[in-house]
Amino acid sequence: MKITSRVLVILLSLGIATQAADQLIVLKAARLFDGKSNALLQNAVVIVQGDKIVDAGSNLPIPSGAQVIDLGDATLAPGFMDAHTHLTADFSGNYNERRLQQLDLNVSEQAIRATAFARATVEAGFTTVRDMGSRFVASHESVDVALRNSINKGVIVGPRMLVATKGIGATGGHFDPTGGFRDFLFGREPDYTDGIANSPDEIRKTVRFEVKNGADVIKAAVSGGVLSLGDEVDTPQLTPAEMTALVDESHRLRKRVAVHCHGDQAAREAIEAGVDSIEHGSFMKPETLTMMKKKGTFLTPTLMASEWIMSKLDNYPPALQAKAKAATAARSEMFRNAVKMGIKISFGTDAAVYPHGQNAKEFKLMVDLGMSAIDALKSATSNDAELLGIGQKVGTLEKGKLADVIAMPGDPTSDITATERVYFVMKEGKIIRQGPRTPQGTAESTTSPDVSDPVD
Ligand SMILES: [Zn+2]
Repeated sequence: MKITSRVLVILLSLGIATQAADQLIVLKAARLFDGKSNALLQNAVVIVQGDKIVDAGSNLPIPSGAQVIDLGDATLAPGFMDAHTHLTADFSGNYNERRLQQLDLNVSEQAIRATAFARATVEAGFTTVRDMGSRFVASHESVDVALRNSINKGVIVGPRMLVATKGIGATGGHFDPTGGFRDFLFGREPDYTDGIANSPDEIRKTVRFEVKNGADVIKAAVSGGVLSLGDEVDTPQLTPAEMTALVDESHRLRKRVAVHCHGDQAAREAIEAGVDSIEHGSFMKPETLTMMKKKGTFLTPTLMASEWIMSKLDNYPPALQAKAKAATAARSEMFRNAVKMGIKISFGTDAAVYPHGQNAKEFKLMVDLGMSAIDALKSATSNDAELLGIGQKVGTLEKGKLADVIAMPGDPTSDITATERVYFVMKEGKIIRQGPRTPQGTAESTTSPDVSDPVD
């Protein structure tokens, strides 16, 4: 008797699961952006079954028995992607408080906070992110790997993540986790297990170590950065020989290479070495952009990062304020030039520098600096999918692709800020959000009064 009821329960649950997987869902809306075309389609229909798109287009017939979700005067789009986030951190508050917090909080507590950041990101319409480095000083925990795996297993809600583990960099460089602290405060100098490497051979060892520990992509700092205390923002931090080793070892292991780079010399050397994307790129000159164009290197501009820092300058020590001002002054002209020259631009924001969930504000910054709305939308869909190497699965609304579909009110090509008001999110056929965002509890980054979400 006991066995029979157990079997029945199993059969019933299997039955329900099968039915749910077979169920056709039809999403309807006034318009559709397919991720690659130069114009929106009208009378949009996207048909979803299981985790895939069965069909997408204009005025498609509705299959009988399908569940129809009519989103009205909205635009359907592929789930947005952000090629530059740090979902395991929040650097948006007062710099010194944040630095102290890094020492106070257990890494496990930081990881629990990260689950809220992941949810805020996917609920904003970003169904895929490339996470560009996660580290906690004097800890070897890979919180980004844990977050990615927990999302993939359905334990928590969040975007699909491609993670970099520890960013690779030089001693005293932008990624040295002990930079700015008293010497030997943590008892030893960081080494390859912390992402710190100082020769071509050490770089190779570090790449191998990171791939062993779950890295999907390799990130390195080839020039100084804004939010680090011990370096100048534009000086080179890896030698050309180290960059060549970095790219060669990563590509041999079939991993893409993204480099944090503000300075022009470091950018030229990195492009020459064959990196896949330059992150930030603030001081790049037109000749350097020409090299990128020839090589097909992507630019991930992260305009949101400098925008946020400049709007909260008092939160940062004077040395960082000066670096932020110099980088911001240079990056607008660099970005305008990149758009004019037709450089491949990938959408990336440096989320964590500003509060998680505001990623879409990058779109307006891009459009204000000369990019067309449709190209900005492509940067966050098909362009990012190409850079991340996942274009076969996501990035467009096409038959056979994974059903990552979002809806925003109105027409984003006439008002790009519609991207900030996404109110429907489906990831792999599962509805993650339909209506208001989940309240984010006490997570600082999401209770910020700067979160604008007029729909909620
Ligand atoms: Zn970053």
